[in-house]
Amino acid sequence: MAGTAETAGTVTNWARTITYAPREFHRPRTLDALAALVADSARVRVLGSGHSFNRIADPGPDGVLLSTAGLPRTIDVDTAARTVRVSGGVRYAELARTVHAHGLALSNMASLPHISVAGSVATGTHGSGVGNGPLASAVREVEMIAADGATGTMGRDDQRFDGVVTSLGALGVVTALTLDLEPAYEVEQRVYTELPLQGLDFDAVAAAGYSVSLFTDWRKPGFRQVWVKRRTDRPAVDFPWAAPAAGPLHPVPGMPAQNCTGQLGVPGPWHERLPHFRAEFTPSSGEEIQSEYLLPRSAALDALNALDGIRETVAGVLQTCEVRTVAADTQWLSPAHGRDSVALHFTWVRDETAVLPVVRRLEEVLDAFDPRPHWGKVFETPSAVLRGRYARFADFRALVRHLDPSGTFANDFVRDLLGLADD
Ligand SMILES: Cc1cc2nc3c(=O)[nH]c(=O)nc-3n(C[C@H](O)[C@H](O)[C@H](O)COP(=O)(O)OP(=O)(O)OC[C@H]3O[C@@H](n4cnc5c(N)ncnc54)[C@H](O)[C@@H]3O)c2cc1C
Repeated sequence: MAGTAETAGTVTNWARTITYAPREFHRPRTLDALAALVADSARVRVLGSGHSFNRIADPGPDGVLLSTAGLPRTIDVDTAARTVRVSGGVRYAELARTVHAHGLALSNMASLPHISVAGSVATGTHGSGVGNGPLASAVREVEMIAADGATGTMGRDDQRFDGVVTSLGALGVVTALTLDLEPAYEVEQRVYTELPLQGLDFDAVAAAGYSVSLFTDWRKPGFRQVWVKRRTDRPAVDFPWAAPAAGPLHPVPGMPAQNCTGQLGVPGPWHERLPHFRAEFTPSSGEEIQSEYLLPRSAALDALNALDGIRETVAGVLQTCEVRTVAADTQWLSPAHGRDSVALHFTWVRDETAVLPVVRRLEEVLDAFDPRPHWGKVFETPSAVLRGRYARFADFRALVRHLDPSGTFANDFVRDLLGLADD
């Protein structure tokens, strides 16, 4: 599956918007080789499937970038315990197929199944659903290589656990994760069109399915599409607010719907309905930049109305905006930490010069709602402001200092965020 691209010592992210030019780039084939590379390097960052849109994975010109793509892929399902132990570089599509073959399921997935498990949970990646926490909520154990090359394991019973899953790659190289599973289930997906913003009962719409996404291009008020994913083992909920689509749709107007997961209410396995995009569809590169902000869910309607107020500014550089819900979780650096959230996502055109001023304007407008940006997407919020938005920020910083005192895994992104350069 196409993801990162390599040429003459440089690597680019999936969207080709970030070029990494590290001192060294390695794709180790064994865990021993990985551990040796970590132990021998003063500055290291890990690259998962490269789907982030900012410099979070960049080790800088003096650092070493380690890809997990060449490592042995382990997916050990324990059907009795209903858990799976998966190596960090495995992508959700492969994990989901294997888990499903054992009659089991993950509780949720992101919109794209091509992203790596460790990279996703490191940035607080999420799907949708008022009862569904971020993907990191499923993690029960983390195996990690520390700066000295030693491997350690940490489970939920450790009081530091809530700092180590959504940890931005700042604590070590995650080699494996153990995740909770549940019995496999089926989902039917229906798309509805033209949901007005005026009179919107956001909570009712968001709760009308197991996973609900609202899409708009903000060219006019309201939502062009609502994707409702219902579990067939749960009672159906009516959707009286908008009309069912006549045929399959892609969330970006004009794009072909054959790349999207099955719609029109045809039931299918959970992993073929929860993502919006089919696993067998191979996105070569994305002509896009993404941003996303998580706000308290109770502010959803006010925030959407505030966004409507700058609709024309946003629409000028927007491909699509997706509104989802995420249940509160306990990871200290999770954008959904401690609060049920609404997630406002923006797929922009791939033109940073045109997009960044709009991102700044958007952040001004959302500021009143205490927004927490997605760690893997483009944002402009200063680190000092971000620190105030996380109740456990100081605990995370102390954990980084304790587990990585030499700053081996701290790149510019992490140093600036944590204020390590100020020490
Ligand atoms: C088309 C598209 C759709 C997306 N859909 C969603 C969505 O539905 N919901 C959502 O929330 N986000 C979504 N994202 C964002 C995406 O989930 C995040 O950027 C995520 O981090 C991608 O994982 P990755 O492995 O590609 O991460 P990378 O970009 O490779 O890395 C991200 C971070 O994780 C760290 N990391 C990676 N692997 C390891 C490891 N083994 N050990 C330690 N640290 C590691 C890296 O150092 C870096 O800090 C989407 C992105 C794209 C391009």
